[in-house]
Amino acid sequence: MFYFSKSKYCLMWQCPKLLWLSKFHPELKPEDQALQVRFDTGNDVGDLAMGIFGDYKEVAALKPDGSQDHGEMIRLTGEYMEKGVDNICEASFSYKGLYCAVDVLRKTSGGYAIYEVKSSTDVKPVYCADIAYQKYVLEHFGINVTGTYLVCIDNSYVRGEELDIHKLFQIIDVSDEVKDEMQNVEPLIKKAEQVYAMKTEPDIDIGGHCFEPYECAFRCHCEEKLPHPNVFDLYRINYDKALELYRQGKADFKTLLHDGSITNPKHLRQMLYAVSDQPDDIDKGNIKSFLSTLTYPLYFLDFETMQLAVPQFPGTKPYQQIPFQYSLHYIEREGGPLLHKEFLAESGKDPRRAIAERLCEDIPKDVCVTAYNKTFECGRINELAETFPDLAEHLLNIKDNIVDLIVPFRSGWYYNRAMGGNFSIKTVLPALFPNDPELDYHALEGIHNGTEAMTIFPQMQFMPPEEQQITRHNLLEYCKLDTLAMVKLWEKLKEVSKQ
Ligand code: SF4
Repeated sequence: MFYFSKSKYCLMWQCPKLLWLSKFHPELKPEDQALQVRFDTGNDVGDLAMGIFGDYKEVAALKPDGSQDHGEMIRLTGEYMEKGVDNICEASFSYKGLYCAVDVLRKTSGGYAIYEVKSSTDVKPVYCADIAYQKYVLEHFGINVTGTYLVCIDNSYVRGEELDIHKLFQIIDVSDEVKDEMQNVEPLIKKAEQVYAMKTEPDIDIGGHCFEPYECAFRCHCEEKLPHPNVFDLYRINYDKALELYRQGKADFKTLLHDGSITNPKHLRQMLYAVSDQPDDIDKGNIKSFLSTLTYPLYFLDFETMQLAVPQFPGTKPYQQIPFQYSLHYIEREGGPLLHKEFLAESGKDPRRAIAERLCEDIPKDVCVTAYNKTFECGRINELAETFPDLAEHLLNIKDNIVDLIVPFRSGWYYNRAMGGNFSIKTVLPALFPNDPELDYHALEGIHNGTEAMTIFPQMQFMPPEEQQITRHNLLEYCKLDTLAMVKLWEKLKEVSKQ
C-alpha cells in the first residue's frame, strides 16, 4: 500500500528523483553532521514552542523497536479531540496512506487550526507546501481547518534574565501562501505514487532545484556523470551562468578554455592549472609588499563560535555568533621562538566577558595580528566591544590591527593546482603542505572542523567529567592547528618570496 508522510512530500516537492533515491538508495547519501544538528535544533525548538499555547496534550507512542507507533498516535489524537483538548501537539492523522503529524493542532470555533513550528527565522515556500499537505490530509479526514500558521523564531528578540518564549517565537498567518500551495498537493501525491513504482531512477537533470529549498544530499550521485573538475567548480561562478554553460555541453575545462565563454582571469588560470602541469604561480613582488605590512610582535588569531537557536545567555539573540574559544600563536621578535596561548570557556556559562578580558590580556595594543578571512574575527571583536564598553578601546585596537592572511591567496599572488580555485585555509594548507602529518586535520581526535566544534561545545556541560576533559583537549588541539596552519602559510610566503 502507498504510504506517504509530510517529510516525503517535501522531498517530492523539491525533486522526484530525490524522493526516489531517498526510498531506494539512501546509501548514496553521504553522512551529514549538519543535518543531524539541524534535526536536533528543530526538536529542541519544537519542544519549547509547545509552551506558547498554554495547556496541551502531546501525542506520543512508540513501538517496541523504538520507532513511532503511528496507529496508536492516531487513536490517541482521536481520544484527545473527543475529550475537547484545546491544544494537541503531534496530532496524528492518516487518510488513504497519507500520514501527517501536526506540530500543534489548536481548537477554534468551528474547527481546528494548524501550527507548524520551525527553527528558522522566516517563512520559506517549502514550509507552506508542508502545511498545505497537512491541511489536505486533515480535510480529507473530515476536519474543518480554520487557519494555518507558521511558528518560527523572531531574530530581533534579545533575551533578558529569563527566556520569554512568547517573545522568542513569532506566529505568522500563512493562509494565503498555503491556499496557493493547495493546488499542488493532489498532483504531487499522484506523481509520487508513480515515482515509487519506477524501477529505475527518474530522469531528472541537475539544476537550481538541487539547492532549493535545501542543498540536496544526493548531489555527489547526480554529478557523477560530470567531468571533474567542471564549470560548477569555478571560483564563485554565478550558478545560473554555470548551469547555462553546462546545458550547452560546456562543462569540462578543456572545452571551456578553448571556447571563449569564460573571460574571468582567475577562472582561466584555475582551468589552465587543472588541465596542465604548471609550476606554482608566484607573484614575489606583491607577496613581499604584503609581508612588509606584518611587523613584530606578530600574532596569529582564530576564534571558534557557537550559534544557538534559543539564546542561552542574557543579552544574546537567536543564532547570534558567540565566540567561546580562541587560539593564539605569536612570535615576539624576528627569529624568536613560536609561542602559544589559548582560551576555552566553560560550557554552559556565558563566555563573552571571559573571552574579551583574556583577549585584552593576551594581545597588547598596537601589535600586528593576523587572521585568515578576517571579516569573521573582526565581526566578533566588534560585538564584544559593543557589549563591554570598558574593554572597547583595547578590543577595537586589536581589531584595527588585524591583517588578513587570505589576501595573497585570494588576490592570486600565490596559486597552485591543488587549490582548485578555493582559498579557504582547509584547502590552501594541504595544497602547500601535502602529506604533512603535523598539519592534517583528519588526524585530529574527535574534532576536525568548525561545525563539529560549535556542535559539541554547548553539549559539553552535560558530559561526565572524563568525557568533558577529552572534549576540551580535542577542542584545544583543533583550534591550535588552525593558528599553526596560519603560521605555516606565513612561513611559506616568506620562503617563496625569497626564492
Ligand atoms: S541532486 Fe538535484 S537532480 Fe539529483 S536528486 Fe538531488 S535535487 Fe534531484
